[in-house]
Amino acid sequence: MQSAAIIPASALDGFLAELTGLDGLAAADILPAGSACAPYESDIANCSGKAAAVILPRDTAAVSAIMRAAVRHGIRLIAQGNRSGLVGAAIADGSGTQVIISLSRMRQIRSIDLANRSVIAEAGVLLSELNRQLEPQSLHFPIDIGSDPAIGGLIGANAGGSRLLRHGDVRHNLLGIEAVLADADGTVVELLAPLRKNNTGIDLKQLFVGTGGAFGIVTAATLDLKRLDQSNQTMFLALPGHAAALDVLLAFEQTFGDLLCAFEVISAAALDITLRNFPALRHPFDASAGCYALVEIASSMPGLNPLLAQQAEDLLEQLHGREQIANAAFGPAESFWPLRDNLPPAIAKEGLPLSFDVAFPRSQLAAFRDEAAQWLQHQHPLLQLYDFGHFADGGCHLIVLLPHDQVERYGIARIVALRSAIYQLVCEHGGSFSAEHGIGPLNAPYYRKYTAPKVKQISAALQHLMDPQAVLGRYRYS
Ligand SMILES: Cc1cc2nc3c(=O)[nH]c(=O)nc-3n(C[C@H](O)[C@H](O)[C@H](O)COP(=O)(O)OP(=O)(O)OC[C@H]3O[C@@H](n4cnc5c(N)ncnc54)[C@H](O)[C@@H]3O)c2cc1C
Repeated sequence: MQSAAIIPASALDGFLAELTGLDGLAAADILPAGSACAPYESDIANCSGKAAAVILPRDTAAVSAIMRAAVRHGIRLIAQGNRSGLVGAAIADGSGTQVIISLSRMRQIRSIDLANRSVIAEAGVLLSELNRQLEPQSLHFPIDIGSDPAIGGLIGANAGGSRLLRHGDVRHNLLGIEAVLADADGTVVELLAPLRKNNTGIDLKQLFVGTGGAFGIVTAATLDLKRLDQSNQTMFLALPGHAAALDVLLAFEQTFGDLLCAFEVISAAALDITLRNFPALRHPFDASAGCYALVEIASSMPGLNPLLAQQAEDLLEQLHGREQIANAAFGPAESFWPLRDNLPPAIAKEGLPLSFDVAFPRSQLAAFRDEAAQWLQHQHPLLQLYDFGHFADGGCHLIVLLPHDQVERYGIARIVALRSAIYQLVCEHGGSFSAEHGIGPLNAPYYRKYTAPKVKQISAALQHLMDPQAVLGRYRYS
């Protein structure tokens, strides 16, 4: 992936002049460089840049007109959702030449089809708002995530979340898409048909999923909805160590099949730092353990709670007898999920977190984790490792914490070397260097290093076909 070329200021002036007075784009929807752009110039991961302008279209026709002007004047457009992405891909670089196109004013839920269990929502609709509107119908879009993304951002990143095990990622729940292409006409491709089966040729919508706005700007999507759970058991388990987690997961899958909804593993150090920094949270057990698992079993069928509870108790007894778990607690979901969701902010309170969003075949996860811990202990004894994540889908959020007093001493070069060494270990264990968050400035060097040449070549050719003038996204696949 390569950065954009610098664009002359005169091109930017021509682009902005062309937008002024366009139908569907009021003066208040165009923010020229300066303080008004500030809210759109940084994200939750503390990536920041300088936008040449921020444009806030209210409908698809306006996005198309913006695209036509951008292609004509060679202006780079960065699509932006709710800025909760964790690789910096929705933020302009520091050159002051890239224009942010924020979809945040495209917030219409165009239609809900109860009979088909589907919805057509615009790209700026927030996940929380969509699910709030669907709740009275006992439906939801089942991506469960600790942030509040927009539909366009969910698609751009192909988000996963804590219940991927049961429902899959965004790609699995996406029926259709409307997107604006980076051609001279700003062509709108309308692929919104709410079909669960449609094998009439290449499934073009997939090009826009997980590609961070590099192939077009998504303006609306048709989403497959699921029924809300009516029966649910949540439990917190103390395990002797990470090696036992896989056996426990397999036992849960054997007993509960596809009712197993979430299986999150949290290291002992990660739980300790969370409790230290959020004193209102309580440790579920009196004694600490090697690691912990937050497990949820759920079904949209009502009335199953007694059965689920009985089956879970029986299983936990067996696992305890085999010394695969040390302890277990049942409770409402709200009593355990905060222990998981407050991990990243707790860690950030004690220093500079270096985060790795990685994934493995499940059988490799514990081995990778142990090797990473040993390597760190040996090479960087002053740093602490915290890990947690969606264990059941092979996901691991690994955080190496640089205590405040070490940040200056370490410096950029040593941090880069540390990151490279961990990613090298990830690849040696057959893992992915970006499990959930896509590609952006924070991890682009590893795309260059670890992606097969043929894959890079095909991706670059596709991007050239879809965006020949290189007007979209932070990077070129090459
Ligand atoms: C506390 C926390 C927990 C999180 N947990 C998870 C998790 O469990 N699983 C997970 O997968 N992610 C997680 N994330 C990451 C993040 O929330 C997701 O990546 C989310 O999908 C980003 O959506 P957004 O609207 O904020 O998009 P942005 O950050 O604004 O953009 C993300 C990417 O999509 C592109 N994009 C945005 N809108 C469009 C559009 N209309 N058309 C084309 N491209 C577009 C952007 O250019 C960028 O490349 C978490 C983040 C936080 C802060």
